[in-house]
Amino acid sequence: MAGEADKEKGAGEKPKAEKQTNCPSCNKLIKKLKRYYRNGKLYCSKKCWRAFVVKSKEEAGKENK
Ligand SMILES: [Zn+2]
Repeated sequence: MAGEADKEKGAGEKPKAEKQTNCPSCNKLIKKLKRYYRNGKLYCSKKCWRAFVVKSKEEAGKENK
């Protein structure tokens, strides 16, 4: 009986939220105070955002070729 109750408790656990916590450019943990938000994504700094934009542009260019 007690075991059943425990199972229900576990089922009520919240699923892991897909929150972006790492910088897509350098993969470092983004700190709340220094985060940089652009185009729906969070970066740890403006520098990383620029680096990511350049990188994604290069990759897109390769695919077009
Ligand atoms: Zn970064």
